[in-house]
Amino acid sequence: MAMRWLTIAATVMLGGASLPPAPVSAPAAVSVDAAPPPPPAPAALLLRPAGVFDGVDGVVHAGWQVLVRGERIVGVGPVLPIPAGARVIDLPGDTVMPGMIEGHGHLFLHPYDEASWDDQVLHEPLALRTARAVANARATLRAGFTSERDLGTEGAGYADVGLKAAIDQGIVAGPRLSVATRAIVALGAYGPKGFEPGVAIPQGAEEVSGSEQMIAAVRRQIAAGADWVKLYADYRWRAGEEARATLSVAEIAAAVGAAHDAGRPVAVHAATPEGMRRAVAAGVDTIEHGYGGTPEIFAAMASRGIALCPTLAAADASARYRGWTGAEPAPAAVLASRAALRRARAAGVPICMGGDVGVFAHGSNAREMTLMVAAGMTPAQVLIAATSGNARWMRVGDRLGAVKPGLLADLVAVAGDPTADIAAVRAVRLVVKNGVVIAP
Ligand SMILES: [Zn+2]
Repeated sequence: MAMRWLTIAATVMLGGASLPPAPVSAPAAVSVDAAPPPPPAPAALLLRPAGVFDGVDGVVHAGWQVLVRGERIVGVGPVLPIPAGARVIDLPGDTVMPGMIEGHGHLFLHPYDEASWDDQVLHEPLALRTARAVANARATLRAGFTSERDLGTEGAGYADVGLKAAIDQGIVAGPRLSVATRAIVALGAYGPKGFEPGVAIPQGAEEVSGSEQMIAAVRRQIAAGADWVKLYADYRWRAGEEARATLSVAEIAAAVGAAHDAGRPVAVHAATPEGMRRAVAAGVDTIEHGYGGTPEIFAAMASRGIALCPTLAAADASARYRGWTGAEPAPAAVLASRAALRRARAAGVPICMGGDVGVFAHGSNAREMTLMVAAGMTPAQVLIAATSGNARWMRVGDRLGAVKPGLLADLVAVAGDPTADIAAVRAVRLVVKNGVVIAP
């Protein structure tokens, strides 16, 4: 339908042209041998910060500059020539780095101390949730996160596909999105629950039972616009219970087969050893949370190149909503999240930067980065995870995640040196997405 509309629109525009067709015998105004004039070069933008962190080598290169032309980076290095007509932005004291990539977010959720997850799924109209998601996307971009993997709308259907299109078309401001649409859970395993059993309650994800239903759900979601397939390999069957593995290995493997056939990777929520073990055995691409991962499971993830999104900030925020003040010793769930990250790193698991933002406020995505440093990673390791690392695990490393000629110009300037103090990433001075300067 969209194509047909475009065709009609083009026809109307052509039909509305007022110039009559030139007579066939009219002398040519330009020699047929003359080459057509070259198209005007896209506008150039030269950033002159104190230094550049390229997202790859882990150091700030003092005195480097970045030249952008159109939507791409065309030059990086010391003392670049200023092209005629270039816009020059001096950023004294700042570091220019790749636009950060949020690895695990939910733009259609807002912090649980504002409204419980149940209330958001059950009581908030879709239009309200979408309007909030628009504001969340804007806050995310202004915080320097120029890309985001959104891992499920949590009951808001396929609204993420429309939000992604609105951002891509320039209707609203936000990060470039990879979306998972509804996500997929085992029948009866997710929520909201606790209601009269005879009444159908809206659920936070699409329910399946058996490999056939799983394959159908994967294909339905991909057809609707899913860039990633998101599964829940474990969950608590009732409030207050411990989480248990839900989907079988066969069900997860069926999803992976259908998703990979369609060129889509698979992200799996798994916090129990058994849920993680099944996800690894089924050949998924990333595991989310992983709080219960054992050294053996992390070794298997490392050998298969399965990345972990540790979501420390989700554990931290959830504990604070239950009354934790932040004082040590932290509650068991927070300690478990930190310990899991340490075990994963010791095993050599690729670490993604993804905090499960939405559980906490959009725009404060860097909270995860601060917690990763507190859990033992160096600022440079965390910065690499949030840029070139996430670009690789999100399958966009050929376009994003580094300050390198040829890549898309998604850049952020932060005050100070983020490799010295990770808190610098919260002091965003400039955001450039696709070569376009966005005010912080
Ligand atoms: Zn999540």
